Amino acid sequence: MEHLTYTIDEVSFKGYYIPDIYNRVRRAINEWQKILGEYVTFYEFEEPTHNADITIRLGKVENRLNVAECKDLGNEWIITFAKDLEWDLGKTKFTNWLRKALGLGERFDRCILHEIGHVFDFPHSQDEDDVMHHNTKVNTISLYEAQHLKLFYKEHNGA
Ligand SMILES: [Zn+2]
Repeated sequence: MEHLTYTIDEVSFKGYYIPDIYNRVRRAINEWQKILGEYVTFYEFEEPTHNADITIRLGKVENRLNVAECKDLGNEWIITFAKDLEWDLGKTKFTNWLRKALGLGERFDRCILHEIGHVFDFPHSQDEDDVMHHNTKVNTISLYEAQHLKLFYKEHNGA
């Protein structure tokens, strides 16, 4: 059984706390937990720590074409969301950074689900209905994709 710890870091702006991110990250973690539950348990560090396997934060992404990215540093993964991006769904146009961050929406849900998939080395899918499509349109993992990814995990981890 693989134990993976995660923490959510650097998601406040000028002292404002952005709770929505926490709920959305937890939702994505739960989704993966449901699928990989036989092999993986996730554990959240509620305080930011440098000991987590996965750190999720708002920051600067290296490839400017990406809205989010997952970087493997060898002993930890850093999932970064572009902090200068409008994370709302377009209904409300926010202007400043804080309001943009508060406007996190379904797009964030899709991205976090996708980026966590990279932690498991899941490759990109050609199917837009898959979470692992590079520009995914879904925020739940279909039964079909779940089966496929479980098999992939098993084969690559000797589980
Ligand atoms: Zn990707």
